[in-house]
Amino acid sequence: MDKEKIMEGVKLILEGIGEDPTREGLLETPDRIARMYEELAGGYTDSAADHLRKRFHVDNNDMVIEKDIHFYSFCEHHMLPFYGTAAIAYIPNGEVVGLSKIARTVEVFAKRLQLQERLTAQIADVFMEELKPQGVMVLIEAEHMCMTMRGIKKPGTKTVTVVTRGVFDENDQLQNKFFRMLEHH
Ligand SMILES: [Zn+2]
Repeated sequence: MDKEKIMEGVKLILEGIGEDPTREGLLETPDRIARMYEELAGGYTDSAADHLRKRFHVDNNDMVIEKDIHFYSFCEHHMLPFYGTAAIAYIPNGEVVGLSKIARTVEVFAKRLQLQERLTAQIADVFMEELKPQGVMVLIEAEHMCMTMRGIKKPGTKTVTVVTRGVFDENDQLQNKFFRMLEHH
């Protein structure tokens, strides 16, 4: 990541909004933000495929569901955070991945400038490509700061996106099973 470039950019924004980037409280802000982006945008240098490479054999291809996976991302239109939870279900094809790797996969794609729709699809697609399950279903529920702190200012509004692949496509029974599992607490 080019930290110098980020620092220059932040300095320009500070000047642009009428601030004085040389005043004490702002002196280290460009550097701080550059370091912050190394973490927040760390998904660009991380590969979900790598995390999904280690797999375990299973005899029963029962549905696996991981839910309440908290994530933080930022929208590519405003570079403001959107955050919430993801739930992923898949029906194995003889192999499963470690549960922590499912959350890791969400994180890899969340730590990039995103659209919620694309984030949802990318998670589903990498599962299909790497794990080759019979099918996968991903649901993401998130609140977008660009809708709550600016623009139409509707706090609490949740955006829900759902993507199905493989056997989940147009299969109401499987989809309903997934939705029912999400309601369990
Ligand atoms: Zn936005």
